[in-house]
Amino acid sequence: MKKKEKGQLIVLSGPSGVGKSTVIAELLGQRKNIYFSVSYTTRSPRVGEQDGVNYNFVDRAEFERMIAEEELLEYAEYVHNYYGTSLKVIRDKLEEGTDVLLDIEVQGAAKVRQRCPDALFIFIIPPSFEELSRRLHNRNTDSEEVIAGRLEKARLEAREIVHYNYLVINDKVSNAVSEIEAILTAAECRVENREKIYKGVFSL
Ligand code: 5GP
Repeated sequence: MKKKEKGQLIVLSGPSGVGKSTVIAELLGQRKNIYFSVSYTTRSPRVGEQDGVNYNFVDRAEFERMIAEEELLEYAEYVHNYYGTSLKVIRDKLEEGTDVLLDIEVQGAAKVRQRCPDALFIFIIPPSFEELSRRLHNRNTDSEEVIAGRLEKARLEAREIVHYNYLVINDKVSNAVSEIEAILTAAECRVENREKIYKGVFSL
């Protein structure tokens, strides 16, 4: 497939437990020319998570070094852990014409909005609050206290939805993926992304 002149930066946020990782895995399987930015975090790996695949797992000292050396596009502290996006990798990918997908929480997204206003901002929600609670419980990875904290956080994060461009409802993974596909396709069809094409067609 022909690469674009410049990749599109896509920011995906949504409450913990909404199913973002599953949706992202499915999306990456279906759509070519899209790179998932593997974040850095100080939290411990969950069962089944792999270093370098789900996250780059680092200690606090290393994370703080990255902050000090300005290696991060954005970072945030979320439920007592740091999470951040490496600037270099995503810059290189965008330059080579590959779309880059970031799975980040709302504070990080706000920083990206300031630094990269042309990015696409997508928020993903569950079909109901009860369903979110059910999904967090089914994950069997967190204590009751941690789950309560994540649910509380979800309500606070929902206040930020107004700053996003698109809202996707993850009632079923395949539906959420189709909606995101539609958003990405529409973005690709924007006139500013097709300037070379129409100028070529009409020799402008
Ligand atoms: P979890 O611990 O459930 O994997 O992630 C917790 C939250 O951190 C999620 O909302 C996820 O989107 C967010 N997150 C993951 N990576 C990053 C990152 O690089 N930067 C920011 N700001 N948030 C991130």
